[in-house]
Amino acid sequence: MPVRMVCVRCPLSCKLTVIDGGETGTEVQGHRCPRGQEYAERELVDPHRTLTTTVRTGFADRPRLPVRTTGEIPLRLFSPALRAIKSLRVERRVAPGEIVLPDVLGTGVDLIATDDLTGEGELASETVGHRLRHPELAGNDLRRPGTAAGQGEGALRAVLQF
Ligand code: SF4
Repeated sequence: MPVRMVCVRCPLSCKLTVIDGGETGTEVQGHRCPRGQEYAERELVDPHRTLTTTVRTGFADRPRLPVRTTGEIPLRLFSPALRAIKSLRVERRVAPGEIVLPDVLGTGVDLIATDDLTGEGELASETVGHRLRHPELAGNDLRRPGTAAGQGEGALRAVLQF
């Protein structure tokens, strides 16, 4: 029985029909380039996808870091990969593209940051640290300077100077 699928290798999104011919091989129809044939054959036996998720960090101002794999990994490895990622904790201010977990489960594919923990986040983290050490500041929402919460941060810094 023919299997229908859409090739996701490029924006053309060719509609493929895959016919498993048994010993005579797999016939793929509807693809406009050889990548479609390869995609369909692998999709039938061992589908792969890019994994995107988030990782815990040690920074109170940015508790989750968005990440993705640098390439596709087998779908069957998603559950163990997500378990491994769940045990991670990023303790460094990484930039987009930096490796968070190399060679995910021996696939040869790395897990990289897709967001930026560098820069202004350090100020916010430092200030939240102050808040935790000073119970009188605990109810205040401290974020970036220039925001409503950031204006509160300026006032709180003044308090801390006494
Ligand atoms: S078969 Fe080729 S052209 Fe068609 S969607 Fe896949 S990669 Fe793109």
